Parts: sequence; C-alpha cells; structure tokens
Amino acid sequence: MSNLRNSYEKLLKGNQNWVEKKLKLNPKYFDELSKGQSPDYLWIGCSDSRVPDNEVTGSNPGEIFVHRNIANMVVHTDINMLSVLQYAVEVLHVKHIIVCGHYGCGGVVAAMQRSDNGLVNNWLRNIKDVIYWNKSELENISDVQQRADRLVELNVLQQVKNLAKTSIVQQAWKKHELELHGWVFDIRSGKIIELDAKFDEIEDLDPIFKYAD
Ligand SMILES: [Zn+2]
Repeated sequence: MSNLRNSYEKLLKGNQNWVEKKLKLNPKYFDELSKGQSPDYLWIGCSDSRVPDNEVTGSNPGEIFVHRNIANMVVHTDINMLSVLQYAVEVLHVKHIIVCGHYGCGGVVAAMQRSDNGLVNNWLRNIKDVIYWNKSELENISDVQQRADRLVELNVLQQVKNLAKTSIVQQAWKKHELELHGWVFDIRSGKIIELDAKFDEIEDLDPIFKYAD
C-alpha cells in the first residue's frame, strides 16, 4: 500500500479503535452522545494541528463548541465566526467564550514578516494591525521569539476585545451571564496561560463600541 493510502487509512483505523475503546468503557456512550449537546464553552482557537481543544483541556466530546481559524481571529466581517458565535451564545447559551492562541503560531510569525503570501495577506492584515497598535512595546523586545510570544498574547487580548464589540455578546450580557477569556497554550510546556483579559460586562468597553438598548 502506498504511503499516501496508508496515511489516509490510519485515520479510519483510528476511528474504529476509538469506537471500540469508548464502547468498552461505556456501552451506551454513543446513545448518550447522540441525545444532544449543551456545552458550557465556546472555543475560538487556531487551526494549528498541535492545539486540539478537548485534548489540551482534558475535556470530552460534547463539552466545547469550537471555531478555529488561522491565528484564532475574531474578525467582525467573518460570517463564519459570527454564525458560530451567535449559535453558541443565543441557542446553546454557553457560559464562557475562550480565545486561545499559542506560542509558535505560524500565522502570527507570518504577520511579523513582509513576505507577500497572496490571499492570506488579507487575513494576516488583522494581525499586522495588532502589531501597529502595539509597535513601541513590541519594538522594545529585542529577542525575536520573545517578541513573537508577546504578539501572540497581544493578539489574543485584541480578539477578546473584538468579541466584546459584537452585539451578540453585548445582548447576552444584558440577559444572562457570559464571560470572555483570553488564553495562550504554551506549546513548549503544554500548559495553558490565562491572560488578564476577563471581560464580563459592557462597562469594560469604550463607549463608541457600545450598542444602545
Ligand atoms: Zn497558530
């Protein structure tokens, strides 16, 4: 069998093993899973294959509603992200939204450079804005890796702010409790770092971004 076929078959075989393992532990596992979901969390993370939400948090299928894109961005014209956000907040009534970035993020590193990457330039532009807004802080960090790490943190903080600027989150704050959180997954230690990005009320926002009642 070719390597190409092997790498593909590996996943299907993996699925068979997983199903067997789950049923061994609990014969009713899939009966229960198929009943529906009521996750407490919405996870907005990076597409990077090294940051799987369930695995790094020790949680299970059914616990985290997920949206992932390059560099865990909350872009206010992204209908995909907004649809996930609206469903998570208004239908599933999640209690927490977590934006999780990670050190060693390829999207963040690419945004720090001047190379022309074609279409993806337009996505990375949102990170270039974060660089521009924090220029003096970032320029004072001489070590390139440390500068990239700090940008990962600043980018997460900005995306949490972007969530707070949506009418979806602001409406939810008026009706029920919802907390926004910013995390960084430290890919070098496996640990999650909580950033000081806790938004839980509209008062934390600049007035220009607050929608009227
Ligand atoms: Zn990434």
